[in-house]
Formats: sequence, C-alpha cells, structure tokens
Amino acid sequence: MVTEPMTYRPIWETLLEPAHRQELSPGHAGLPVRPDVLVVGGGIVGLSIALALSQRSAGQVLLVEQDELAGGASRANGGGLFAGQMRATFPNAFRTLGLESREMYAAWAEEDWADFDWCRGGSLAVPPDEFPLPLPEYAAAEQAAGRGAELITGNALRQLEPALADSVEAGLYYPEDATLNPLKLAVSLTRELTRRKVRLATGVRAVRLQPAAGRIDTVETTAGEIYPGQLILTTGWSATVLLSPLGIEVPLTPAKGQALASAPLPPLLGQNVMSGQLQRQLPSGHVIAGGTVEWVGPDREITTAATQAVLEIARQAIPALADVAFPHIWTGLRPHTPDAMPVIDRLPLWDNAYLAAGHFTKGVLLAPVTGRLLADWLVTDRPSAALNMFSLARFD
Ligand SMILES: Cc1cc2nc3c(=O)[nH]c(=O)nc-3n(C[C@H](O)[C@H](O)[C@H](O)COP(=O)(O)OP(=O)(O)OC[C@H]3O[C@@H](n4cnc5c(N)ncnc54)[C@H](O)[C@@H]3O)c2cc1C
Repeated sequence: MVTEPMTYRPIWETLLEPAHRQELSPGHAGLPVRPDVLVVGGGIVGLSIALALSQRSAGQVLLVEQDELAGGASRANGGGLFAGQMRATFPNAFRTLGLESREMYAAWAEEDWADFDWCRGGSLAVPPDEFPLPLPEYAAAEQAAGRGAELITGNALRQLEPALADSVEAGLYYPEDATLNPLKLAVSLTRELTRRKVRLATGVRAVRLQPAAGRIDTVETTAGEIYPGQLILTTGWSATVLLSPLGIEVPLTPAKGQALASAPLPPLLGQNVMSGQLQRQLPSGHVIAGGTVEWVGPDREITTAATQAVLEIARQAIPALADVAFPHIWTGLRPHTPDAMPVIDRLPLWDNAYLAAGHFTKGVLLAPVTGRLLADWLVTDRPSAALNMFSLARFD
C-alpha cells in the first residue's frame, strides 16, 4: 500500500504541480487605482464573478486577494457539484439555480482553458444523511418534480456502490451530479482571467471602505488606495470585518469544516457517497472524507475530536476504510447565513457596492450562477427577480 507523510493542508495542494501553484500568486506590482469594477476576495465566488464581468464587457476589472487566489474555503472543500442533493427544504428557485450552475460547469469544462477534472459521476445520499420525508416518499416527490432522482435499494444499491455497509438499505441517487478539483479550477480560471486582461492581485488586503456622497469612494488596501467605479465584496465569512465599522450588519458567521484524505488507494468507491458527510475517491486514488460543521468562530485549528468524528462516519458508511490511514487533514471556514443561502445584493446606503457571500456548503456549486446574476445586474443596472431570495433585507 502507498504511504504518504502527514500534511496539514488541503489534499488539492498536494495534487497541484508547483508551477501551477505559482500561478495563484501573481503578486501586485503596478495596480490600477481606478478600475471600473473592484472585486475584493479571490475565492471561487470572486473569480467566477470576475469571469462573468469580463464576459459581459464590464470594463476594467481588478480583483484583490489578501492571500493566494482560492486561499480560503475555496481550496478546503470536497469539490462536489451536488445540485441534486440540495434538499426540498430550500426554495425551489434556489435549487433550480443550483442545477443551472452545475450545468454552467459542464459548459466550462468544454472550454479550451478548462482543466479541472470535471466528472459527471453522480451522487448517492444514504442515511444518516437527513431527508425532509421518509426516503421512499421523498424520492417519489423528487421524481414527480422531474429532478432526476432515483431511489436505489437492495441489489441495485450494492451494484451501484459495492463498498457500502450492509446496514445501508436505501439511497437517493442523482446521476447528473458532478465533481471537480477546486484548486485546478482556480488555476484554470486564473489563466482565463489573465488572458481576458482581468487584473488579479494577491497579497493585497482591503482594510477600510470610505463612503462619500452615497457611494464607496475609496477602498484602503495594504497596497494603497483604490477608487473603484463599482465594488463587489466576495470576502466569504469575513465580510463583516469591512462592513460592521460602517454600521452595516450582515449575519455572516464562519462554519468550520475539517476534512481528511487517505493516501492513494486502489479503486474502492464508484460513487460520491454522502452519509452525513462526503466520501469521494479522486482520480489519483485518494479518498476524501468530511467535513465537520463546527460553530467555533474563525478558528481553523485541526482537532483530534473532529478527525475521529470524520473517521467514524466514513467507516460506518464504508467499512473497507476501517484500516485505512488518512495522512492529510485540513480545515476551512465556510461562510454561513441563518437560512444557509447567500447574500447577493447591493448594499444599503451606497449605489456602487455589492456583496456576494454566504454560500455555506454550496459555494463551489453556486459560484458560476452567482457570477452570472451579479454581472447581469452591474451591466444592465436591473437585478434579476431571482436575486430577491438573496437580499440582505430578508434578515431585517
Ligand atoms: C470541508 C469543506 C467541504 C466543502 N465541500 C463543498 C462541496 O463539496 N461543494 C461546494 O459547493 N462547496 C463546498 N464547501 C463550501 C465552499 O468551499 C464555500 O462555500 C466556498 O469556497 C465559498 O467561496 P467564497 O469565494 O465565498 O469564500 P472563500 O473561498 O473563503 O474566499 C474569500 C476570499 O476572500 C479573501 N479575503 C477576505 N477578506 C479580505 C480582505 N479584506 N481583502 C482581500 N481579500 C480578502 C480571503 O482570503 C479568501 O480567499 C466546502 C467547504 C468546506 C470547508
């Protein structure tokens, strides 16, 4: 069996070629100080919005990121595009956007610039994943709604995923769901944005927003002042750091997730199995398991308790993982709002400032559609009706 040294960083970093890693740190020499649009935050949401803006010819776009590109939650995730598994407890329109966004990835994967291991391998949810109704009823309702769900039981379940524990009797399968490598996605987007002359700057932190005459006039950064035409904050859970001093309260909190990965294993999992957390085997053979959802503030510490919790769930669902070591451990902070849906809105008081944050467990999935909706708004000055459910005012 292959062994690998312990690492305390996302498995995606281990899998990335060093030269590609450098592309995520372009630096910040000679920043434009009056961009038409300034995007603050270079996670998957910021990168996707920047792409949509450039596709809509929104003028000069500058994106600033305090760390490397995709340095936050956007490299700590499982790379799941499980739109089917968005539960019926969410508004139908939100779930439909999830499907649309997944299919936007399918279209991206066909582009010359795309190299991010897109795979339409389906997703299989089994207890203790929770369903809004008893599973057979829920599956029937999903089928009746034309959502491509299949209730899988008995021999069919064993054939679909032979590695499942015998105790698992039924699962909800969405064959159209997909996966990708989120860090290769970030590299692909970085290349395409650079080709499109979007300016990407790393190691630049926005430290203060200065309003004047009903707009954000100046953004103070660690690399100097920027005077944006339009400003979009895509800073994940930490948007409150910039907005609270100006009296704008956004109910965003970090939801810590800890995840693990094995060394490369022979083929074991045929499915992306959700059993209260994800178990997924990568093309490299590594099996990912996780993540936890912990309400501990902006704390990224790796804990033994979380490791044990992840292993217990993984081994309950997939007994063959019982003797497998998981040498890769990492954490990330998901941006969470009280209804687990993002805020994608223009900020009150200012005409030129927008926020797109709070995608929680679905930020990779929802990034392309977030970009489309926001770029349409900026370019046409008319918000899509679909954005109503993402308003900041819903929390008043
Ligand atoms: C363990 C785990 C598993 C997950 N699995 C999945 C999954 O399978 N599928 C899925 O769709 N989602 C998944 N997610 C959720 C997903 O990763 C997030 O929803 C998504 O990455 C959020 O993207 P973002 O761009 O909003 O935030 P982030 O990726 O956090 O990006 C925000 C960026 O803003 C930067 N920033 C913050 N403040 C400033 C500032 N003042 N100036 C400059 N830059 C700043 C940060 O450095 C950061 O890079 C998972 C998350 C975790 C933790």
